[in-house]
Amino acid sequence: MNATYETLRADIASIPVIDCHEHTNGPVSGPTYSDPLAALVVGYVNSDLQSAGTEPVLAAAMDASKPLEERWKLFEEIWKRTQHTSYARVTKWVLREMYGEKELSLDALKRMGGNLLNLKNEKTYWGILDKAGIKCRIVNIWVGDRKIIEGEHVLPDRDRYMIGLPGYHSIHSWNEVNGYTQQVGRIAASLDEYVDICREIFTRLKGRGAIGMKDQSAYNRTLQFDNATRADAEKIFNFFMEDPRRSVGYPGSKPLDDYLFHAFMRIARDLDMPVQIHTGHMAGVRNDIAKTNAVHFTSVLELHREVRFDLFHGNWPYMGEWLYLGKNFPNVALDCCWLHIIDSIYAQNVLTESVAAVPHGKIHGFGGDYGDSVEFAAGHLSIARDNIAAALARLVDSGWIGMDDARQIAADWLFNNPNRFFRLGFEPVTV
Ligand SMILES: [Zn+2]
Repeated sequence: MNATYETLRADIASIPVIDCHEHTNGPVSGPTYSDPLAALVVGYVNSDLQSAGTEPVLAAAMDASKPLEERWKLFEEIWKRTQHTSYARVTKWVLREMYGEKELSLDALKRMGGNLLNLKNEKTYWGILDKAGIKCRIVNIWVGDRKIIEGEHVLPDRDRYMIGLPGYHSIHSWNEVNGYTQQVGRIAASLDEYVDICREIFTRLKGRGAIGMKDQSAYNRTLQFDNATRADAEKIFNFFMEDPRRSVGYPGSKPLDDYLFHAFMRIARDLDMPVQIHTGHMAGVRNDIAKTNAVHFTSVLELHREVRFDLFHGNWPYMGEWLYLGKNFPNVALDCCWLHIIDSIYAQNVLTESVAAVPHGKIHGFGGDYGDSVEFAAGHLSIARDNIAAALARLVDSGWIGMDDARQIAADWLFNNPNRFFRLGFEPVTV
């Protein structure tokens, strides 16, 4: 590592961060670990371990009812094949920074055993975030919108609520529709009434502090949301609504799904809510990547010009399309949440290129995208700071920008841009 990198990395360490995407409820959902291996194999690294071709062996290795010695023999093999991925790097960070172990071994696991984190402890949980410099988190959680509307569930001070959209437009039966409309004690008897009830739900959620909408439909369908006609949508809606025993499956329900998504974009516009969109790579293993390419979303970006879109995850592995959409559409911001640990080198490359191609004020630098295992979000953020320093150091060394520019860009990516885009109202960070 060269001197420019080292200097920038040290400076970037103290920049506070708006974490643009998490699935966290706070210490109330914090894990308490009882098995050292389970404390290290959290979240995404599972996918890489499975991808190494050993799903049944991995399951056996993670079976905490068996002796650790026996399980380690199975796990060591898989770990050796996996340990250099970006996901695995987070596990290594947690091992080192949370448990003081340099290397994953049976002895290290045994030493960890008596000392596992308890994230139900408020001090431990918030202490990790404070130390990491995470000042605010934008969260997508599943406590149920009714509880938010009724004030039964109140978010921690640090967190801001995003309305989860997919269920509201991916409807297939009377029961599903009724489940949503009952949240505000109403019954929909027509498509127009359903849209109206959704508007009421989203408006009331905004009244309870929701700052935007989030959609990860790309796990299950294409990002090509056709501009379906009301008549096409109504036909499907009426079919299952007039007989609650009926349902419509995928892909037959797509015109209704598409129509509702567009209707919700008009509501997002009216409520002045930004919309976060999952693009690119998906968690887990075995899915279809082509449907998630953000380029399929172009027609939505063109039509809904007054809606601010936040395109997630670097659209990995479709870097060029992502940069293009950020460069070409004034209503698009590019969000690096999750990206730093999907592929750290890609993150460095796309951030370097972005400075030359896309106004740097449109980039959101970090989102942890973990659950309440917050030590993993902290590890992720450390890697994100590494990547940002590496990307900017290259630009300094080539003479594209100066050191002060680099520091300002880092502060904007990590804090000022999301603060402005999501209208969070914090004092801007200066360097
Ligand atoms: Zn997520």
